[in-house]
Amino acid sequence: MIHRLESTADYRDAILAGDRRAIARAITRLESTRRDRIADGQAILEALLPHAGNSLRIGITGSPGVGKSTFIESFGMDLIERGHRVAVLAVDPSSPVMGGSILGDKTRMERLAAHRAAYIRPSPSGGSLGGVAHRTREAMLVCEAAGYDIVIVETVGIGQSEVTVASMVDFFLVMLLPGSGDELQGIKRGVMELADILVINKADGDMRAAAERTAGDYLSALQLIRPHSAWTPRALRTSALTGDGMQEVRETIFEHRDLLRKSGELEDRRRIQARSWMWSLVEEQLHEKFRSHPEVAAAIPALEAAVASLEATPAAAARALLDSFGKP
Ligand code: GDP
Repeated sequence: MIHRLESTADYRDAILAGDRRAIARAITRLESTRRDRIADGQAILEALLPHAGNSLRIGITGSPGVGKSTFIESFGMDLIERGHRVAVLAVDPSSPVMGGSILGDKTRMERLAAHRAAYIRPSPSGGSLGGVAHRTREAMLVCEAAGYDIVIVETVGIGQSEVTVASMVDFFLVMLLPGSGDELQGIKRGVMELADILVINKADGDMRAAAERTAGDYLSALQLIRPHSAWTPRALRTSALTGDGMQEVRETIFEHRDLLRKSGELEDRRRIQARSWMWSLVEEQLHEKFRSHPEVAAAIPALEAAVASLEATPAAAARALLDSFGKP
């Protein structure tokens, strides 16, 4: 059935019915840079909100080549076979150094992408990490309203993107290769502490023994993390290529959900996430308002120059800018 997509109610009804075109167009509005289109998107989102929140949100990070897309494809297909509907979103702030998107490659996850029960959306392009993350979070809510009960958010860990993704999911998976240490693999300090599970992928062929050692090394380190949670993080081995270990990962994720549901931690986690999301939206919009305020905008060039040439202290210049913001 082709839904008419004119009013907010049209969008709401079409998305609740799982109409992919409506989902895509609503997300495109939310990602738009045009104010009127964003406003349309926000109205749709608000109408969907009572129907969102009913998914298991899984974050996955790991450096390029570790096997994320192979893993997500196999994991996603398995979930679909078990009757789930799977949405895959990405947080990938394009960087001038990397020359654009890393996760945007269209050939990734071909089987999953072609399946009716899956919805794959590449990362919103451009903008700050904060902006990209907000758009992804909103896309997640749209997918939930459309009936996807598993939402996977993938990131490669540019900047602070792992931390950002961890702050929007129920379960956070960090993927590593057998052998070398986490810092050599581009996993930043602090990210390990966010992991609910470490997955040592490519545990096949020659790498099997190394993977076992790596998992063992991490296991003892993980025991020390997060003493106040009902959950103790685990280290598991997988081969996304052969499917070995995938079942254990799936079972672990559902076990985590059941445990945290029972202990009330899952609800707490989402409440805290919602509160900090609110504040980061406030900060984002305040920052935008600040920079576009006419008095501030007019004062910025001279003050920046004065700070650069050491004629003004950063503190004095900041005060002057904030004073300009206070002017009507
Ligand atoms: P991503 O960049 O993290 O998404 O990594 P990909 O999923 O694209 O995988 C990178 C390469 O590693 C591809 O050639 C995959 O076929 C291969 N690969 C992925 N998972 C495994 C695995 O479990 N074992 C082996 N041997 N190769 C794998």
